[in-house]
Amino acid sequence: KQINVALVGNPNSGKTSLFNQASGSNERTGNYSGVTISPHESLVTINGYSINIIDLPGTYSLSAYSPEEAFVRRYIIDKQPDVVINIVDASNLERNLYLTTQLIDMDIKVVMALNMYDELTAKGDQLNIVQLGELLGIPIVPTVASKGKGIKELFEHVIQIHEEQEPTYRHIHIHYGDDLEKSLHNLQDLIWHDKHITDKVSSRLLAVQLLEKDKGAEAFLSHFPKFTGIKSKAEQENATLEKQFQEDSASLVSEARYGFIAGALKETFLKKADLQ
Ligand code: GDP
Ligand code: MG
Repeated sequence: KQINVALVGNPNSGKTSLFNQASGSNERTGNYSGVTISPHESLVTINGYSINIIDLPGTYSLSAYSPEEAFVRRYIIDKQPDVVINIVDASNLERNLYLTTQLIDMDIKVVMALNMYDELTAKGDQLNIVQLGELLGIPIVPTVASKGKGIKELFEHVIQIHEEQEPTYRHIHIHYGDDLEKSLHNLQDLIWHDKHITDKVSSRLLAVQLLEKDKGAEAFLSHFPKFTGIKSKAEQENATLEKQFQEDSASLVSEARYGFIAGALKETFLKKADLQ
């Protein structure tokens, strides 16, 4: 019973603290036993499961512009970890959740470590964790990685999601707004028809990436016979959107992600200032 788990989060969200706590907390709880394989990889036993944890470089996005983004994205696609732990800095939710929306689009199993939870409570802000988890389709566990708080619960959810027994987990679609959704639909229509493509990557993810003019997605698609048609359709959709909105289609996608996040936080998050 082995589970491969990758830690994905923004720089300074607490990945290495979490990694160290998970691999080192064996002596204290007795329930764990860990061996460090490398500075970035550790094998721990939790509740009878052998869990291989990888600490990946910090990244704000998976758009593959920077070497770190490209590395993390390649890792998820090529190595296909069973579960991704998305470490989110609770004191900086809006920015951190951007990466979460991209993980959602990748249609993989994600558990969120809502880290720096001590900072959120110290500020007096309020977050409805259960409701946010339901909106995102992701189980969320508050953690204080630097103190080892919440780590045990976090890995219990990792095991549950791996065993398909996690009630909160469901694949949601980020709604990109009616105009982008129409373009996505048109592109997906073409991609769907090539089963060789959709066996590997979700057609919706590829369609989103084509609107983002993502070089990695284009390189991936270029190996398939329908590529020329798909590429020209993507150019056509992007041109239509850019004419309509007078804005780069890639920016329209990222703005829609921030819009989705703002909507989710509006329903679940209250700053202390607004509570009074
Ligand atoms: P990484 O860049 O994601 O690997 O983040 P680190 O694990 O290096 O953590 C960045 C800083 O945040 C360090 O100074 C940690 O001690 C601190 N830190 C990590 N987790 C928490 C937490 O839950 N609460 C607080 N207050 N600080 C934390
Ligand atoms: Mg680190």
